[in-house]
Amino acid sequence: MTDLSKYIREIPDFPKVGIQYKDITPLLQSPEAIKEAVAQFLKLIGNEKIDKVVGIESRGFLFGMLLAEKLNAGFVPIRKPGKLPAETYSEVYELEYGKDTLEIHCDAIKKGERIILHDDVLATGGTARTACNLVKKMGAEIVQCNFLIELEFLNGRNKLRSYPVESLLKY
Ligand code: AMP
Repeated sequence: MTDLSKYIREIPDFPKVGIQYKDITPLLQSPEAIKEAVAQFLKLIGNEKIDKVVGIESRGFLFGMLLAEKLNAGFVPIRKPGKLPAETYSEVYELEYGKDTLEIHCDAIKKGERIILHDDVLATGGTARTACNLVKKMGAEIVQCNFLIELEFLNGRNKLRSYPVESLLKY
C-alpha cells in the first residue's frame, strides 16, 4: 500500500507565521498516489449509495470530482462569495479575525439526497461545519464528511459531531 504521507509537503509559516501548511501538490503529481487516495476514500465510504459529492473551494474540488465519478454521483461546488453565477444560499462563519461566507447554488441539491462532503484539510472545522449547515438546510442527508488530512490537535471533528468523519492522514 502506498504511504500517502510521503506526498504531503510541509511549508512552515505559510500563508502566515505559525501555520504549518500541508501542501498536497506533490500528491497530485503522482498517478499512484492519486489512485491510492481514491481507493482509500472508496473503502471508507463502502457500499453507501451517494447522490452528490460536495467539494469545498478550491482544493476540495480535486478529489471531490474524482470521487463523484467513481461513486456514480454528481458533484456540487461550495464556493467563496460572488463566484457562483446563479441563485445561491449563503452562510456566514467566524474566522480567527473577522467573518467569511460560503455559497451553494439553490438548485444544486434536492431534499433527501445522500451527500459526501469533501475537503483537502480539516483544521478547526469551521469551514466544513458551515458547508454542512448549507447542505442540511437544503434537506439533504450527510452520509460522511471526508478529508485527505486531519489536523487532530485542532479538534475540528468536534464541530462535525452530528456526522461521520473520516480522514486518510492524521497529524
Ligand atoms: P478550518 O475551517 O480551520 O477547518 O480550515 C479548513 C480550510 O482551510 C480548508 O479548506 C483547508 O484547505 C485550509 N487549511 C487550514 N489549515 C490548513 C493547513 N495547515 N494546510 C493547508 N490547508 C489548510
